[in-house]
Amino acid sequence: MATSKFKVVLVYPDLLGTYGDSGNAEILVRRATLRGVDAELRVVHSQERLDDSGDVYVLGGGEDGPQQAAVDALRRDGVLKEVHQQGRQILAICAGFQIIGESFATSDVDNVPGLGLIPVVTRRGRQRRCVGELLCEASSELGIALLSGYENHGGQTEILDGNPLGRVIRGVGNRYEDTQDGYLSDNVIASYAHGPLLARNPALADRLLERVHGLELESLRRRDIGIEAENLRRERIKEVQGNK
Ligand code: GLN
Repeated sequence: MATSKFKVVLVYPDLLGTYGDSGNAEILVRRATLRGVDAELRVVHSQERLDDSGDVYVLGGGEDGPQQAAVDALRRDGVLKEVHQQGRQILAICAGFQIIGESFATSDVDNVPGLGLIPVVTRRGRQRRCVGELLCEASSELGIALLSGYENHGGQTEILDGNPLGRVIRGVGNRYEDTQDGYLSDNVIASYAHGPLLARNPALADRLLERVHGLELESLRRRDIGIEAENLRRERIKEVQGNK
């Protein structure tokens, strides 16, 4: 059961932590805290049992080997599937996105079974790797105009059912054949965008926080967050000056 405290679970940063994707979890906790929400970051490494009391589960990118190790461990563990069925939120980037799909490919194996949480399939790319800046028009339901990040993946992802997170304006996204990036459902936000994604697109972090039951962010004014952040910055400067 999710507790009253807002808990972000960072899943296996030892395997799924490329390009600073773990920062997505820190940003969620930070933005919740700035709004006066009692928030906690729980980091779970691949040798540990996954925490089943999270509100949001954050998965990042990884090389083929660690990605394979991560899917094996997550399957054995079983908790991610359970919490997904219970409707908890998942944010999954690149390898994390591929892992929660039906199947993906590594450089050695064509068809590695995924966790099957979302109906997407990732195949090995026949063309060159997708590397570079990624700019998307966000799905209209998010109320955000653009999403930006950068991508670096070989896998080509096809959505079998459901909607992408955004429409690609620049870059590749899920695959060369269409102009989609990521996946969006009631409790999954997935993307190929590193950055970290939530650092480059803080409005998306807020949308994710709003999705969590009990966090009524609409009632909290953005202006207050700005003032709070400025006060913290001043305190920090004083602290640093005092230590000299
Ligand atoms: N190994 C996967 C691929 O190349 C994911 C890469 C990543 O997470 N950056 O498609």
